Amino acid sequence: MTDPLLSIRDLSVAFGAGKREVLAVDRVSFDIAKGETMALVGESGSGKSVTALSVMKLLPYPAAHHPSGTIHFQGQELLAMPENEIRKIRGDDISIIFQEPMTSLNPLHTIEKQIGEVLLLHRGMSGQAARKRIVELLTQVGIPDPQGRLGSYPHQLSGGQRQRVMIAMALANEPELLIADEPTTALDVTVQAQILKLLKDTQQRLGMSMLFITHDLGIVRKIADRVCVMQRGKIVEQGPIERVFTAPEHPYTKALLAAEP
Ligand code: ADP
Ligand code: MG
Repeated sequence: MTDPLLSIRDLSVAFGAGKREVLAVDRVSFDIAKGETMALVGESGSGKSVTALSVMKLLPYPAAHHPSGTIHFQGQELLAMPENEIRKIRGDDISIIFQEPMTSLNPLHTIEKQIGEVLLLHRGMSGQAARKRIVELLTQVGIPDPQGRLGSYPHQLSGGQRQRVMIAMALANEPELLIADEPTTALDVTVQAQILKLLKDTQQRLGMSMLFITHDLGIVRKIADRVCVMQRGKIVEQGPIERVFTAPEHPYTKALLAAEP
């Protein structure tokens, strides 16, 4: 048995102080193996995004108390790592995509420039080689006429296309781990299905691991190998999806499954 790619132990994150303190994440522990997809489910406010942001060390400081616990990625402990080193891992090995692509895309930069920067910074690629790779990435994520889109700005694309561009950016560095925080929630169902397929295909091609956050159990069934169920900051149940979906143990998991449309 090889070591997991990501190993989180007793992660806790609090916001506020004194009586106002909220324990957003409460002693969360889970592993993700290479090539595996872990889903994180639970109602709004249960601590899914804060868990994801902790892995990227992107928590809003000093709003959050320093997280406690450990996060090992490829054997390195991230929480204790200095900012300059974590920045390199963030760019080279871990990518994140959010629900709303406009927060990640720079409105003043063309599509070519946004993806080009990732290739330059993390793959040392520029000019003709980068342009060729950008067209390749845009083709992979299903942007029509990718060559003609290089000079477009984010506002000139549809919501679904922006989300695809963001995914192309997240994949440009060929990450070991992709964190996807409700990446399809804002999209209509057909675009949603296309994006899920794209993520699944890419994962198989790159052997990439995924931490996939959603409140949609239907998506979990389609995409995940294992699932963690979160409630009020805690993981109340985790296991392979076949087991959790057919024989849930925790009352909250049972309630979630019973509430499925
Ligand atoms: P989820 O992604 O599961 O909907 P979050 O991880 O975003 O939930 O939030 C978990 C808890 O942490 C919530 O109670 C939320 O209000 C709190 N929280 C998240 N971000 C902040 C912040 N920047 N400042 C204060 N509290 C926060
Ligand atoms: Mg969230």
